[in-house]
Amino acid sequence: MRRALIVAAHPDDVDFGAGGTVAVWTAAGIDVSYCVCTSGEASGDADRDAAEMIRTRRAEQRAAAAHVGVSDVTFLDYPDGAVVASLELRRDITRVIRRVRPDRVLTWSPEINWDMVATTHPDHRAVGEAAFAAVYPDARNPHAHPELLAEGLDPWTVPELWLTDGPAALRNHAVDVTDGFDKKMAALRAHVSQLGAAEGLEEDLRAYFSATAKQHGLADGQLAESFQVVDTS
Ligand SMILES: [Zn+2]
Repeated sequence: MRRALIVAAHPDDVDFGAGGTVAVWTAAGIDVSYCVCTSGEASGDADRDAAEMIRTRRAEQRAAAAHVGVSDVTFLDYPDGAVVASLELRRDITRVIRRVRPDRVLTWSPEINWDMVATTHPDHRAVGEAAFAAVYPDARNPHAHPELLAEGLDPWTVPELWLTDGPAALRNHAVDVTDGFDKKMAALRAHVSQLGAAEGLEEDLRAYFSATAKQHGLADGQLAESFQVVDTS
């Protein structure tokens, strides 16, 4: 396990959904790359300047990535709030997979989590569906998106897919993020345009990840993020 790729819809998604896990992975020497499909411009006041918001949110995501040991961040420029699992999005994610050649892809569950609808944004589910199609079969299939072969990007098989923010009953794996929690919080606080002072956020997340750790049999006082891990080998 040397390289992981996170495919997210918006700036800040990875920091909420898997920031502690990314911090633990990079501390263990794993190279982690981000592919963020939109730049989060559908946020802020109605009269905000979209181009300025794109610049702000990209800079915030790069700063957040640095807090958890990530420097390779690709933005795909899809429209925030209007992402669909199109062939074009599958191709663009496949392009990043074939460049990074990850041993593991982490993305959003394409399923609805009725217990926590705030994490079940339609863009998240569309990105999850497209990323799954990119993992299987597109990235490994030389006949998929033949223009990528012309770009010198050979087929690549991703053996493992991790899904976050899906239904709790489908989550079969927990990562002990106790040692990465401070870095996750630092990454989240980098998203100033979204979170402001983030009052109460640390306490809320600590309680949530402590409960997750208990559910998955970790020791008292530990914190965990949970995922549905799928064998795609
Ligand atoms: Zn999001």
